[in-house]
Amino acid sequence: MRGQTVFFLVFLVAWLVPAHLALAGTGSLEIRAPARVSQGDPFLVRIDSAVGFNEVILTWSGRSIPLPLSFEDNHYSGKLLLGTDVKDQSLGTKILAVRAEKYGLAQSRRKEILVVKRQAPVQRLTLPQDMVSLSREALNRHRKEKREVAAVFSRLSGERLWSCPFQLPARGGISSAYGLKRILNGQPRSPHRGLDLRSGDRAPVSACNDGRIALIAEHYFAGRSIYIDHGLGVVSMYFHLSGVEVREGERVKKGQLIGRTGSSGRATGPHLHFGLSLQGALVDPVPLFDPACGSGF
Ligand SMILES: [Zn+2]
Repeated sequence: MRGQTVFFLVFLVAWLVPAHLALAGTGSLEIRAPARVSQGDPFLVRIDSAVGFNEVILTWSGRSIPLPLSFEDNHYSGKLLLGTDVKDQSLGTKILAVRAEKYGLAQSRRKEILVVKRQAPVQRLTLPQDMVSLSREALNRHRKEKREVAAVFSRLSGERLWSCPFQLPARGGISSAYGLKRILNGQPRSPHRGLDLRSGDRAPVSACNDGRIALIAEHYFAGRSIYIDHGLGVVSMYFHLSGVEVREGERVKKGQLIGRTGSSGRATGPHLHFGLSLQGALVDPVPLFDPACGSGF
């Protein structure tokens, strides 16, 4: 019995030590990400490993994101989209950290990413004061709707459904870019955290990528709106719609018709407000429409 225990311990040590050395060795965990990004811009991160880790966790802007690795071309890899929000004023060097674990043995990597200030134009608008200030009822409604959206964001898919490049959800061109600084009746407001696409009424709106319809809502500001969960923390939003062509829970493909443009909610005329959230940060979707997006990754 005693001999058996000793044999087992020797076997265990013999098995664990090489595994530990292999994990501690260089080159078994690699991060690929840009060294410099502009505030508000999305960027791709790729993790490569020779080891099939049980768990890989990335930490960025105070958030921990589990990344499943898949086996292809004789090694393990995973892709993630990250970004910074134009609302987030913390610029300079940020750390992207990766921690991978197998059988309780961990390996960590860090990469410095320089976040530089975004140059954005300023738009001055004058609107009747009753359109600018919110009534108590409207404010309460808006708070309730924010909680509804937050609930959707707390139960997103951990599987990657998106692929690069993304597809423009409506034709007609950009009328208001992401990051635009707005001054309303002389008062600075939060920057525009989405893309306004010019459109007539009832023009087709399509899914920017593969995903699952996470929420269909009728909100005070957004009006008739659709939220799509694309997996791994990527959510797209389509606001001010006149019609919805999908149901909650439905799987959709890139380019599939999901709704019709309109001017529901707080909109001065028919257009599509398109928003893209990466791990909770609203980013500029434009770089992801580039056909070269994702090449080399
Ligand atoms: Zn907008």
